[in-house]
Formats: sequence, structure tokens, C-alpha cells
Amino acid sequence: MPDCIFCKIVKGEIPCAKVYEDDAVLAFDDIQPMAPVHVVIVPKMHIPTLMDVEANQSGVIAQMVQAAQNVAQIKQIAARGFRTVINCNSDGGQVVFHLHMHLLGGRKLEDQLG
Ligand code: AMP
Ligand code: ZN
Repeated sequence: MPDCIFCKIVKGEIPCAKVYEDDAVLAFDDIQPMAPVHVVIVPKMHIPTLMDVEANQSGVIAQMVQAAQNVAQIKQIAARGFRTVINCNSDGGQVVFHLHMHLLGGRKLEDQLG
């Protein structure tokens, strides 16, 4: 998608602080971190929202979860714990319309989700 900021990061057209990469997924530090560890995990394929994941694309979710495990190890927060969030559309607070998972940790997170 030409105007998609995360597609541009995947293609290397916009720089990022890369944390983890494999054939399907790229993970990088969030530019406006909400916790000491705040990583954005994006599939390399452009899928706008969680609602756009087709049944035959469900593997991408598994690959994002595998990436989250790797990111937690790399950031050394796997044992302490962390939170993963996927915002979807307006009420979910989605701003960038390229599917992504937030991985937050490095401090005790609040109990409420919103
Ligand atoms: P969301 O509200 O779920 O769409 O989250 C989008 C996230 O992407 C926000 O936390 C932004 O801070 C983050 N973000 C936007 N642009 C960049 C960028 N160039 N590099 C890293 N993170 C970004
Ligand atoms: Zn995109």
C-alpha cells in the first residue's frame, strides 16, 4: 500500500529501531512509547485491520504471536510479563491502518484496559 506508513517501514523507506524480523513479521520500538518496553509487531503483508484477516490468513496471527515471544525474550521481560494489544477501528483507537500488535511491558501495567 503506497501511502501506508508501516508498509514504508517494512520496505525500509522510513527508518525504525528494529527489534526482531523474520520472513513474515517486523517488530520495532514504538515512536511514542507508553511503557519502558513498547514494541509494534507488524505483518509484512498489508492487512488493514483485524477484521480484514481472512480465514486463510490466520497463520499471520500465529506468526505475530511467535514474534511477540521472541520480542519478549529479546527485551528480557518474558518472565516478568507483558501485555499485547491489537486496536481495531475507531472505538478501538486504531490510528495506523496496517494490522499491528502492541507489546507493552517493563513496568507494572494498570488493571484496566481502557
Ligand atoms: P494504533 O493506535 O494501534 O494504530 O497504534 C499505532 C502506533 O504506531 C502508535 O503507538 C504510534 O506511536 C506508532 N507509530 C506511528 N508511527 C510510527 C513510526 N514511524 N515508528 C514507530 N512507531 C510508530
Ligand atoms: Zn501497510
